[in-house]
Amino acid sequence: MLVNLNEIFKIANERQIAVGAFNVPTLEMVRAVIKAAEKLDCPVILQHAEGHNKFISMEEIAHIMLYYAKNTKVPVCIHLDHGTKIEDCKKAIDLGFTSVMFDGSMYSYDENIELTKKVIELAHEKNVTVEAELGPMLNSSIGAGEGVSYTSTTYQYTEVSEAQDFINKTNVDCLAIAIGTMHGIYLEKPKLNLNRILEIKEATEIPLVLHGGSGLSVEEYKTAVKNGIRKINYYTYMNTDGGKAVKDYLVDDKVYIFFDELSIFATDRIEENVTEFMRTISTI
Ligand SMILES: [Zn+2]
Repeated sequence: MLVNLNEIFKIANERQIAVGAFNVPTLEMVRAVIKAAEKLDCPVILQHAEGHNKFISMEEIAHIMLYYAKNTKVPVCIHLDHGTKIEDCKKAIDLGFTSVMFDGSMYSYDENIELTKKVIELAHEKNVTVEAELGPMLNSSIGAGEGVSYTSTTYQYTEVSEAQDFINKTNVDCLAIAIGTMHGIYLEKPKLNLNRILEIKEATEIPLVLHGGSGLSVEEYKTAVKNGIRKINYYTYMNTDGGKAVKDYLVDDKVYIFFDELSIFATDRIEENVTEFMRTISTI
């Protein structure tokens, strides 16, 4: 069932849970995530990031994601992750995405507000929801793609007053905040500020989003959800688990390697990883 983020957040708020948002640049990943959501009867967000255009184009994956969303009983939102240009958000909306993220973190605060407002105007007209970002998301030097790499001096957290002001001025549907998580593989224990989620939640009352959701402890996930996180972006560790599955498959003394069998093997392993993650963030 195809839905937008408002419908996802309605369920998440009722159940006091977070919903997983998964980047799915391969068919195996789409199938694994949908199977896990069906198994747990959980709403889910499938998303495409600009950084993954090298694996699959937005047009190709849009059709695949929409096919699966429309052919399952669980609520599925199709979301653009980290759109950095208004044109990309428009393209996603035209392709049938039900939600877009405008990542204006590389602009000045005022420009971020102005551009986010323009995306909201385009999106809301078509019942498409919008996520914005306030505060720089850190990137690990492994597995985070392009962008500014994390160094120990770059930890910054979203300010409560700024989040409040940003939401008042834009009327955005949900906000991704910086609390010390990072994209890619954690090379050291991150300096999380989980209390900042609660402070922003109390000041703003809108659903909050956590990026860089791989690699936190079960307790950290649960605290983040309890404090007000309603969408968690998760990708790196399901991706590396798929990679490990391929490695395991290849160590056997096989004379012939069949690619289609390998694909199924990797899909099953990704499904297991995603199921475990969904279970963690959707049970209190
Ligand atoms: Zn992100």
